[in-house]
This record gives sequence, structure tokens and C-alpha cells, in this order.
Amino acid sequence: MRIIVLETPDFKIDGGAYFGVVPKIIWEKKYPADENNMCNAACRSLLVDDGENIILVDTGTGNEPDNKTAESYHTDYSKNLETSLEQAGYSNEDITHVILTHLHFDHCGGTTKPDGDNTRKLSFPNAVHYISRLQWENANNPNYREKSSYLKENFGILENSGKLILVEEGIKIGKNIELRLFNGHTYGLMLPLIYTDKQPVFFAGDLIPAKASIPLSWISAYDLFPLTSIDEKRSLLTEAAENDWILLFQHDYYNECCDLEITERGVRAKNSYIFKELFA
Ligand SMILES: [Zn+2]
Repeated sequence: MRIIVLETPDFKIDGGAYFGVVPKIIWEKKYPADENNMCNAACRSLLVDDGENIILVDTGTGNEPDNKTAESYHTDYSKNLETSLEQAGYSNEDITHVILTHLHFDHCGGTTKPDGDNTRKLSFPNAVHYISRLQWENANNPNYREKSSYLKENFGILENSGKLILVEEGIKIGKNIELRLFNGHTYGLMLPLIYTDKQPVFFAGDLIPAKASIPLSWISAYDLFPLTSIDEKRSLLTEAAENDWILLFQHDYYNECCDLEITERGVRAKNSYIFKELFA
């Protein structure tokens, strides 16, 4: 089994939005900001090749600098998903499954690409795409708060593609991937737990976007239901620490992944690692 982190364009996020009600004087000691209060954010995807299936988790912000979100998020296109895939030895056509954790633009932007002037096509034409039903319905009838995070061009053509599976409850993909559902960040956030030859890896997505987000009250201001996020983080982190999981951070510019320990103050990060050094 191969498990590989794929880099997609980095961007910047407002520090207050990133850490919610935590005061800047506290969060900036753990996560630096620039003079405009913007924090560097990575945007990692994950590839799992289990010998039978080649599974991609999330597709980043996509590769279109004219995208209306690109400027406000200072998107840096020097990294991109297709190049990262190629470097790992795969083509878009090789992908058999795409798991989209949710449909906010920075998680599904590479799912489609232009095909002529006004039409789009799937970037991974041979893949079945998994999205939770709750998230699909939410993205297609967006509430006022999330409206600007959903760009129909990223996912609209999936509807009639015959390549969309709407997930209603936790399921398994292949032998090694378990999908878990969460509702604090958005409705039906779907995050994979991957059983590897070594430790299990949890792709923490927007539930725990960075190592600094591990303490329970460090909740992003983007979360729809912070109290739900706290409960979800509490039980997830306890299970992760008790079972020696590796947490993989999608948006932490400075830390790719870590293991955990149970302390008097709750579950905390133990050691940070470079992912490919753990799973060579
Ligand atoms: Zn999100």
C-alpha cells in the first residue's frame, strides 16, 4: 500500500477566521501571521494506492488563477495537484475514487476543469466521486453564511455524470479506508481514516486543520456549529490518542502530521513528523 501527500496551491487565510475566538496574542505564538494578519495555509490532498484502487482525497483549490476567490486568498499556483500526482507516478486517468471531504472551494476546486469555452469536464474521468448526501444538498441549496464558499463550477457537472455516490453514513472504501461523518464545520463533512501497514492515519481536514487547532476551543470562525465541532473533536481526539493514530493536517503550513498524547489539559500533539518519512 502506498500513501502519499499531494501538494496543491497554498493560500492565505485571515488569522482571526482561522482561530475563531482565540485572541491573537495567544494564537500568534503558535501560528505566525503577516502584517495584514494573514496566515499561510497549505492545502494538502492525499493519495492512497491499495493495490486495487487508487484513491484521491480532496482536489485543492484547482488551477485557475482567474477564479474569483484566488485574489482574496493570495493563492499561490507554484504547486498544483496534477504536477504532484505526476511526481508520485500517477496520471489523472489512474484515479479510481475521489473522496471529497466537502465542497468548500479549497477542497474540491480541482475536481473539474475547462473543456472548451463555457463547459467543464471531470478532471478524473475514470473515478467514482464520493460526497456525503448532507453536504451535497447543503452545497446545492447553500445557506447565506456558506454561499460564497461554494462554486458550482467545481461540482455541478457531477450531478448527471453517473460518477457520483452520495454517502449517507460511515462506509468503507476498499479494504483500508473508513469514512467518518461530522457536522460542526459544515453539514456532512466526511473525513477518511486510513489503516496502513503502520499506524492508522486520520485526514483531519477542516475538523482539525492545523496542529494549533487541537485544543478544543480553537475552532475556526468558519465552523457553522462550534459546539458540535468541540464535541466531535473531543471524541475523535480521544479515540486517536488511545489508538496511536497519526493526524494529517490539510491546512497547516508548518506541520504535516503528528501523533498525540493524553495530558492533564486534554489531548495534545506529541511529535510532529514529515509524512513521507513516516510512510516511505
Ligand atoms: Zn471548509
